[in-house]
Amino acid sequence: DTTAVADIGVTGLAVMGRNLARNLARHSYTVALHNRTHARTVSLVEEHGDDGTFVPSERLEDFVASLKRPRTVIIMVKAGAATDAVIDELVPLLEEGDIVVDAGNAHFPDTIRREEALRAQGLHFVGTGVSGGEEGALNGPSIMPGGTRESYATLGPMLEDISAKVDGVPCCTYVGPGGAGHFVKMVHNGIEYADMQLIAEAYDLLRQGLGASAAEIGDIFAEWNTGDLESFLIEITADVLHHVDAATGSAFVDVVLDQAEQKGTGRWTVQNGLDLGVPITGIAEATFARALSGSVPQREAARGTLPAHTAAWEVKDRDVFVEDVRRALYASKVVAYSQGFDQIAAASAEYGWDIDRGAMARIWRGGCIIRARFLNRITEAYERDAGLPLLLADPYFTDAVADGLQSWRRIVAGAAQNGVPTPAFSSSLAYYDGVRAERLPAALIQAQRDFFGAHTYRRVDSGGVFHTEWSGDR
Ligand code: NAP
Repeated sequence: DTTAVADIGVTGLAVMGRNLARNLARHSYTVALHNRTHARTVSLVEEHGDDGTFVPSERLEDFVASLKRPRTVIIMVKAGAATDAVIDELVPLLEEGDIVVDAGNAHFPDTIRREEALRAQGLHFVGTGVSGGEEGALNGPSIMPGGTRESYATLGPMLEDISAKVDGVPCCTYVGPGGAGHFVKMVHNGIEYADMQLIAEAYDLLRQGLGASAAEIGDIFAEWNTGDLESFLIEITADVLHHVDAATGSAFVDVVLDQAEQKGTGRWTVQNGLDLGVPITGIAEATFARALSGSVPQREAARGTLPAHTAAWEVKDRDVFVEDVRRALYASKVVAYSQGFDQIAAASAEYGWDIDRGAMARIWRGGCIIRARFLNRITEAYERDAGLPLLLADPYFTDAVADGLQSWRRIVAGAAQNGVPTPAFSSSLAYYDGVRAERLPAALIQAQRDFFGAHTYRRVDSGGVFHTEWSGDR
């Protein structure tokens, strides 16, 4: 067919789809374009026709007909019902072996469902996480494609081309079958929640402990960005803290209402952590901290009413305190990532995805919000031991956290005594002490369960399952 000239097509040309299409065109792919409202397609070609070769179509039939086989279509529309609507329209126009890519922010159970439905019709469905927002989509995002390995042979090289590169290595790799790609993107976002909360707590500690200004703390973050903490989020935190509100001349952070919003990926991650029984306390505390910030009636009822009874915070040495906060932040961050990678391992086993965790850390090094120098260390840890049961138990991370342990304990204790809320710092330390404990009070919980519900228990000195007749004990 002489009209089938396009290497790949994009339907859904709002900010994300438009930028992905431009990125593909700039990498010399011929890109078929379609959008429900044709005006968007027209404006893309008018404004950015110079980026490369576009083949615009008003009708979906013509869009599909313009694609070389196997046809590869990226859907980049609003997640949820809109994605199903587009798939339903598209599928009857496709033929066996064609590849449908959902690059929107789908919830992974939807991706599992869609993949099964399309597989039954001989089509490849590739649920793909894309991170990095608008800017990433245009200049190189981190890309997390799931689906069949067979589809990756066609699609993978194109996605790798347009992805971010770190040390020449693409921030895109095959993740695993079914919903694996969107799952990993979800955990990425959950970790992003934890990272942001930890940074916010560090900021609050510096502010309250030192009485430092936002700009002074911005300088501290800028300094931290030259070491182990070097990352996109630390870098932009320094920029945000240096930013002055044009209208008032105040530090920008001081004029922003202190209620954090969310679009739902943190919540999805925590819900899945509960389903799989994986303690992702860092992500959970981060998600709940946003919820607390938005609990307006509760905060109003408590503010000025609930006493503090705090001790005066005596920071004797400014530099020691700053270094303590830095180390506590790093240790808490290691815990949050260790938990997130546990969740990926648990899901991989539960859903049969065989996800390479080291490769996930590698493709998060560029393009995405959690990009960081530290991710190299995670990749190295899984290279040393692909089956590592606990990231914290890798010698590098064990040592890194041990180095900061005294600082971490001082900071969490100081925060508690001085009434600075540090849910993520504190719960990360509690997790650390819990996971390393010789013996946990879970034994008492098992005994209680057996007492009131005959739920049985196991013993330390013999195998099997036991129940005790408790009636004589009351
Ligand atoms: P969006 O605002 O989420 O969605 C708008 C696009 O969806 C438009 O092209 C719109 O077509 C189309 N659409 C909506 N309902 C439709 C329907 N029933 N049938 C056909 N098309 C329909 O766009 P976006 O911000 O570019 O995001 C696209 C996807 O990428 C979303 O899933 C989003 O979650 C994900 N994502 C976004 C970001 C980000 O930073 N924005 C980052 C990563 C991933 P019309 O033009 O006809 O209205």
